[in-house]
Amino acid sequence: MSEPLEVEDADRPVLAASGSVRVRVPAKVNLHLGVGAVRDDGYHELTTIYHAISLYDEITAARSDKLELTLLGEGEHELPVDDDNLAIRAAQTLAKHVGRPAHVRLHLRKHIPVAGGLAGGSADAAAALVACDALWGTGLSRDELTEVAAAVGSDVPFLVPGGTALGTGRGEVVNPVLAAGTWHWVVAVAHGGLSTPEVYAELARLRKAGRGNKPSTDTSRLLAALRQHDPQVLASALTNDMQAAAISLRPALRRTLRAGEEEGALAGIVSGSGPSCVFLAADADHATQLAARIAGHGVCRTVRTAHGPVPGARVIS
Ligand code: ATP
Repeated sequence: MSEPLEVEDADRPVLAASGSVRVRVPAKVNLHLGVGAVRDDGYHELTTIYHAISLYDEITAARSDKLELTLLGEGEHELPVDDDNLAIRAAQTLAKHVGRPAHVRLHLRKHIPVAGGLAGGSADAAAALVACDALWGTGLSRDELTEVAAAVGSDVPFLVPGGTALGTGRGEVVNPVLAAGTWHWVVAVAHGGLSTPEVYAELARLRKAGRGNKPSTDTSRLLAALRQHDPQVLASALTNDMQAAAISLRPALRRTLRAGEEEGALAGIVSGSGPSCVFLAADADHATQLAARIAGHGVCRTVRTAHGPVPGARVIS
């Protein structure tokens, strides 16, 4: 007897798919990244505004009698395809949670740069969760899936709903915020990545030496800019406590940020722990022009345009 066909209910499939499940997941930028004290569990207390942008990875999940992963695209020669890959870890965590074997064949097509401060690994984990949830027909509630996501990584719970959201705790407590309209961005992708733990360590070093900024906890101006869709206010409210540390480790980022400024970006900021930089444009045309001009400076590996907010990990037909 054939199995039930995939049924998509609003944004979440409720029945196990008969064949494979394809999920698309966006990258994220942090419009505000306030890094607080280190907690007893070793994580930093964060106040962040996550924003999902239209730079996507794609994962396909198919039935198998074992757990396997193949990948193409960004990072195909350097990323692990074993238990160290966050997509595999997500499938294992979900399987354990629902008490079934983690049998699935995952194929990942990566466009999100690795270790770029765009949460590509977390995005793949979120995509694997949504794909396996649909393939296995787990019947988990949204809240339960979020709980599993948080066990995989701090950024993973945001990448399930996507959009624009306030993240607190270690980033895993996610609440949507009101963001009117669409924002246009240029993403400057650097040569090589930066290790997030190393950027945190550099921030600690700078702060100890009295050079790092204090934890930024006030998001009120940024939230107002998002509500009112005011690009000038948004431009002046973008905040990243990790920027100085990322620049300290990768001084060339100064040139990238300067290139955006010279070419008329409304604002430029290091994305998360870097080294990608994101620039705010006035509209889609401005983003296209800005991207071409920034590319002309030869300060990064590649330049892409993107818009946000976009939804998080979604099954696509
Ligand atoms: P964040 O912004 O969440 O700090 P990032 O964008 O800087 O993350 P990622 O691309 O998420 O960095 O990857 C960080 C590290 O995670 C990589 O260097 C890699 O070793 C590991 N990793 C495991 N699985 C993946 C995956 N599927 N994609 C990318 N990186 C992965």
